[in-house]
Amino acid sequence: MNDYLVRIMTTDGAIRALACVTTETVAEAARRHATLPTATTAMGRALTAGALMGALLKTDQRVALKFEGNGPLGKILVEAQSSGAVAGTVGNPAVELPLKEGRVDVAGALGRAGFLTVTKDLRLKQPYSGTVQLVSSEIGEDLAHYLTESEQIPSAVGLGVFVEQDGTVGGAGGFLIQALPPQDEAAIALLMERIGRLPALSEQFRNGGTPEQLLELLFLGIPHETIEKRVVAFHCSCNREKGEKALLTQERESLRKTAEQDGGITVTCTFCKEPWHFTPEEIDALFDESTEPAAGVEAASPD
Ligand SMILES: [Zn+2]
Repeated sequence: MNDYLVRIMTTDGAIRALACVTTETVAEAARRHATLPTATTAMGRALTAGALMGALLKTDQRVALKFEGNGPLGKILVEAQSSGAVAGTVGNPAVELPLKEGRVDVAGALGRAGFLTVTKDLRLKQPYSGTVQLVSSEIGEDLAHYLTESEQIPSAVGLGVFVEQDGTVGGAGGFLIQALPPQDEAAIALLMERIGRLPALSEQFRNGGTPEQLLELLFLGIPHETIEKRVVAFHCSCNREKGEKALLTQERESLRKTAEQDGGITVTCTFCKEPWHFTPEEIDALFDESTEPAAGVEAASPD
């Protein structure tokens, strides 16, 4: 088990907490998207946020996070599933900014003005969606703000990604703590104080720190029990069928021309960069088989 998540609950049921290590997940995303360190850090924090949010879902549910600021990074999109699968992408993977006060300038990359939209597919008729303004554009604080304001559950979130000198991911992980009614004010005050004194999460995970150690540090002396431990991994839900659907939204004749010139067409998944290749013959067959008019089909684009 490489990346994983641990969930605990205080014995009085007033506080639940999740912590995860996401080093491999972030490294895989950085490799697939060829991100530079600032973009790696921003996307890595968002992926870790996704893993934490995904763990709050029930079986087969999905959650999508969209961080959209006015900075050079563009949008960060993350999709997470209850299974622990998480995938994500960033608008401009080549964003690299100088350190700001010794820290990676995620806020500068994402931009201080913008929105976080959380969409949950709870397998009901309509997906649930909530939007808040970005408060710090550091990702963790923005997610905490969303949970507290939009979902009305007072929450604290910490996220950390350590990028080595050579651009590889040295460590990543995070935590999410939520106060449930009736609120245990004393425990919350103690936790807030401990969160304020935590050493940098990026360095903790880089130095081999585990989710269990992080939770023990925060919940020392607060009676709690471990509810579950689950795998987290970079995994995209795309498949060849999504590529087919994307092709069917295009104009058949122009596709045919391009396909014949280039020996086929490759549709690349936005989230995982997996290339799905279609030969001119396959494209022809696809259009012949599709009984529906192409105009009604949705593209595989995440937006
Ligand atoms: Zn994909």
